[in-house]
Amino acid sequence: MESVKIAIVGAGIIGVTAAVAVKETFSWCDVVIFSEAFSPDTTGDGSAGLWGPFLCGVEAQDNIVRWGGGTHRWLEGLWKLGLTPETGVQLLPVTRVSSIPGFYETTEWLHLVHGHRRLGETEIAQLNEEHGAKYCDGLEFLTYTSEPTKLLPWLMNKFRSLGGTMRTRKINKLSELAEEGYGIVINCSGLGARELVGDMTVKPIRGQVTRVHAPWSFRVILCDDDDGNYIIPNIDSVILGGTHQENDYDRSVRPLESKFIRQGCARIIPALEASDTIMEWVGLRPVRSTIRLESEICQKGNGEKFTVIHNYGHGGSGVTFSWGCALDVVEILKKILENGPRHQSRL
Ligand SMILES: Cc1cc2nc3c(=O)[nH]c(=O)nc-3n(C[C@H](O)[C@H](O)[C@H](O)COP(=O)(O)OP(=O)(O)OC[C@H]3O[C@@H](n4cnc5c(N)ncnc54)[C@H](O)[C@@H]3O)c2cc1C
Repeated sequence: MESVKIAIVGAGIIGVTAAVAVKETFSWCDVVIFSEAFSPDTTGDGSAGLWGPFLCGVEAQDNIVRWGGGTHRWLEGLWKLGLTPETGVQLLPVTRVSSIPGFYETTEWLHLVHGHRRLGETEIAQLNEEHGAKYCDGLEFLTYTSEPTKLLPWLMNKFRSLGGTMRTRKINKLSELAEEGYGIVINCSGLGARELVGDMTVKPIRGQVTRVHAPWSFRVILCDDDDGNYIIPNIDSVILGGTHQENDYDRSVRPLESKFIRQGCARIIPALEASDTIMEWVGLRPVRSTIRLESEICQKGNGEKFTVIHNYGHGGSGVTFSWGCALDVVEILKKILENGPRHQSRL
């Protein structure tokens, strides 16, 4: 097979999973990741990496199920291989609650997780008493966390071992990579897509979290209310959250929110009050009404064509959809390599 030069822009969880999936499938291709920042300085590095669709615009349910399902099965495979220490993938019990009656009635992704069930009235009443809350609906199931501070370095090592390369560089225009001979460019720039391809529909949803030391904590609790808190155990720490503010670019830690997080989580599990803070962190989730995952024919300065595959705008579900989206990138790429470029953007 003739080698094809493929450039991937972005080394967040979306770019790195795409890079591994592409290099695993098309081993003869020359695949290079170009990125301004790498782990531990990407958006995913601050997240707990809990599997669960969350803050992902008005994405179609069949996409949520396909992308989320692809990732869930992949995480299950890593977990069954016993790769928890290296990848951070662990299987945990999850309780999700909401104060909106019937909130989980139409949850189509539920069949993807293990052992799911709706909580009964007595259980909800007991949780309300324990948490001082007004929940009306709740779910219980088992799923995976895969903290990107561990998963990303593991994936990058895998990508290198497959023969892929990584370069630190800011890309100003996708066409500059085409000028350098990359016939296919995969755009995984997250929020950077605003500047890189002028897509102003991708916006930040700011999120502040606190990482604490609580090695005894082994259950995820997440309240889906707008002002809800969450507690997500990782391997060496527990993430307490959280906030979500649309169109807010402020990456500084706000003391009032630190207090909201600490007090809210201690109301749910009082023993957390005594846990030591490891760090506080703010990240910007790159959200779009729907994720942009499609190919586009673009032109170089001399009029020659090249192909771009966009894969950005995953909001609060980037880890959850990462491998499933990477599999879609591979499918798009198969068609391009077999039939030549002919896909058009819907943007
Ligand atoms: C507080 C918080 C908690 C979260 N918790 C979860 C969770 O539990 N589960 C879950 O599934 N998701 C979670 N998320 C969401 C998840 O972290 C994001 O959806 C995901 O990290 C987005 O990944 P990305 O690769 O698209 O973007 P990013 O990680 O932002 O990566 C973009 C990459 O592109 C590079 N880049 C951008 N522009 C350029 C350019 N012009 N040239 C070169 N490089 C460029 C950047 O340097 C970076 O490497 C959370 C997010 C936050 C903020």
